[in-house]
Amino acid sequence: MEKTTRTMNKRKQVALVAHDHYKQELLQWTIENKEKLTKHSLYATGTTGNLLHRETGLEIQSLMSGPMGGDQQLGALIAEGNIDVMIFFWDPLNAAPHDPDVKALLRIASVWNIPVATNRATARFLFDSSLIDEEVEIKIPDYQSYLAKRT
Ligand code: PGA
Repeated sequence: MEKTTRTMNKRKQVALVAHDHYKQELLQWTIENKEKLTKHSLYATGTTGNLLHRETGLEIQSLMSGPMGGDQQLGALIAEGNIDVMIFFWDPLNAAPHDPDVKALLRIASVWNIPVATNRATARFLFDSSLIDEEVEIKIPDYQSYLAKRT
């Protein structure tokens, strides 16, 4: 696959998602990182976003609830280049009814090469990195050449 680049601004578009058993953990992480998070534009699946907004006062664009289509909405934003970083505390110990959507979300995040934290340790590494507040270039698939080859 040919590659091109996409520039992430200093102010990043950050997606926040947590499965039910991990919502409190994401809330704790969000409280600890509130000052850093205010510098970015925040998106979340419905229940996660409402909880985080209520408990922290952060401005968050809440999508639909995950099992009702929120994961897919987030995936679409990623494919369109509108999400730079995703913090997704998915639950490795419990089955989810929307497991195919979870898999699809993680897959599309890899396709478009965005940094993803699936647990608190990785979220810490991401947000302790100076890159979180810097302009960053990432490699992404060259969609125009992909399309040209297929048509
Ligand atoms: P929720 O969705 O924030 O609406 O609970 C999260 C998910 O299950 O992906």
